[in-house]
Amino acid sequence: MKNIYGITLSQLENYFEKNNYKKFKATQVFEWLYKKRVSSFDEMTNMKKTTIEELKNEFVFENIKIVDKKAGQDVIKYLFELKDKNLVEAVLMKHDYGNSLCVSTQVGCNMGCAFCESGRLKKIRNLETYEMVLQILKVEMDLNIRISHIVLMGIGEPFDNYDNVMNFIDIINSGKGIDIGARHITISTCGIIPKIKEFMENGKQINLAISLHAPDDEIRNKIMNINKAYPINDLIDVLKEYIKKTNRRVTFEYVMLKNINDTEQCAITLAKLIKNMNAYVNLIPYNETRHIAFNRSDNETILKFYDILKKNKINVTIRKEFGNKVNAACGQLRANHERRDK
Ligand code: SAH
Repeated sequence: MKNIYGITLSQLENYFEKNNYKKFKATQVFEWLYKKRVSSFDEMTNMKKTTIEELKNEFVFENIKIVDKKAGQDVIKYLFELKDKNLVEAVLMKHDYGNSLCVSTQVGCNMGCAFCESGRLKKIRNLETYEMVLQILKVEMDLNIRISHIVLMGIGEPFDNYDNVMNFIDIINSGKGIDIGARHITISTCGIIPKIKEFMENGKQINLAISLHAPDDEIRNKIMNINKAYPINDLIDVLKEYIKKTNRRVTFEYVMLKNINDTEQCAITLAKLIKNMNAYVNLIPYNETRHIAFNRSDNETILKFYDILKKNKINVTIRKEFGNKVNAACGQLRANHERRDK
């Protein structure tokens, strides 16, 4: 049976129409779920008993469980246990502009980026749409807050779980659903070109972030497997097409790895690569993890890199650090939890 939290409004409308109901019933169900936040069909008091029975025969309310929670300043990290006992994480960040939740899209990840904890834990499966929706609902309920921004930067590669992720966005973006504005939703990808092309046709005003992390093929091949399939110049070309077509800005994430991608020459090459693009670079101080032998660049190196980009007229920011005190970098809470269990 399908989980009710994994159904988009139009899928639910189709269901009702197919069963000879008016399609506005779907809106009513959505409002019960996402505005009034009930957790059973029995609580939907404007539905007939027979309708409720039919819904129960078609859909289930399945939950995910909070099994660990770590709080730091302005950040709370959640570990969820799924129905099949797999674990995923979400991280809540409190900004001055609102609450942002970093959501996981897969159990593990197959992209194999050398510096990333999630990739060490190979992909076990894709998350179902409802498992992404529930990450938001559970955190909102736990803290009694509203989440205003969503970033798909947790465990997993969103474009390797494209259909479920798009349904998830449909549900959270719907005015009848959780109602998070498209401009408040950011998808981050390591650069799967065919999916970027598909996404380009989607028409929604969702933000696109690209994990670039290197200025050329030589360095990128060493740290990101995906670059062997989709080389950096092809990636930049498709992003130029994306910017032209959508009129949207692209964000480049660039994690600062000591002596790997942080030299002055790297900054100069990067500036040339993305010159005149409607894009900005987010420099991310690397969150060191016990299992992986990469180090964070020194602060002076990061600042120098920043200055070179600025001088070359590239929009650039240095990411505010949230997670390191609570191991909030991708996959870290899960990795630590699993070790503790052994
Ligand atoms: N698979 C997607 C989204 C998940 S990762 C992607 O590649 O974009 C979210 C971001 O965190 C990526 O830019 C990733 O490269 C980065 N990241 C991974 N491990 C990190 C670490 N230890 N410290 C800082 N950033 C990290």
